[in-house]
Amino acid sequence: MFVAWFTRDKPPLSPEEGGRRVRTEGLWQKCEDCGQIIWRKALEDNLQVCPKCDHHYCIDARTRLGLLFDAGQFEQFDTSLVSTDPLDFVDSKKYTARLAAMQRSTELRDAIISAAGNLHGRRVHICALELKFIGGSMGSVVGEVITRAIERSLHTKTPLIIVSASGGARMQEGAVSLMQLAKISAALMRLDNARVPYISVLTDPTTGGVTASFAMLGDLNVAEPGALIGFAGPRVIEQTIRQKLPDGFQTSEFLLQHGFLDAVVKRADLKDYLAKAFNFFLA
Ligand SMILES: [Zn+2]
Repeated sequence: MFVAWFTRDKPPLSPEEGGRRVRTEGLWQKCEDCGQIIWRKALEDNLQVCPKCDHHYCIDARTRLGLLFDAGQFEQFDTSLVSTDPLDFVDSKKYTARLAAMQRSTELRDAIISAAGNLHGRRVHICALELKFIGGSMGSVVGEVITRAIERSLHTKTPLIIVSASGGARMQEGAVSLMQLAKISAALMRLDNARVPYISVLTDPTTGGVTASFAMLGDLNVAEPGALIGFAGPRVIEQTIRQKLPDGFQTSEFLLQHGFLDAVVKRADLKDYLAKAFNFFLA
């Protein structure tokens, strides 16, 4: 391994530093928040958080679970549940065709992964929503998978975490998706009565029916920095109340300041934070 003696992990010259475009293509990207050029590998090593401005980029459900479970190891549940398209819904394309395309591109049946494993040695259940699957929207499958995870937590007295990244209820399933709000909320109440802790982690974005149900029903509701969190979008609210909204409205920090969240936790600190919280709850 003598190669290691004279090589090190130094980023190639960025286009700004005069690096040749041909050689650096794809290695660099412009941060969507601070606009600085960042080395893609530095972003990856930093858990998809901008090393220059701390902007938290979205990560997919598998990556999220990999970060939270010890050694990235977990078992999955309810992987075969699929929506039956109860409304026979068609928008720009048939809902069944949309589902099939999403299933191919994400290799998931729907917008969620339900998993169990260890978090700093303690067995936990974690459900992570997948934003890439129809905007992480909650239809009958997401609702059922979450409800089953809650019931599993209840029967085995295992703490639960739900990591949200969602545009809200899935319009292609209409009222069926709205029913999930009530179903999940009722199941969470049973979990609460049994004194099994549940922590909700809100990531960018968490909006609509997801915010209006399980995402805000944790024993602790914590969010990643800079996440968009709300029910209706800012434009709709401005039009309704006919007032200009304050700066930073619907961000994690704003919500924390106004008492809607318990903490804003950086991605790098999240696992330790969750472990510490469960130690506290279950002491
Ligand atoms: Zn940045």
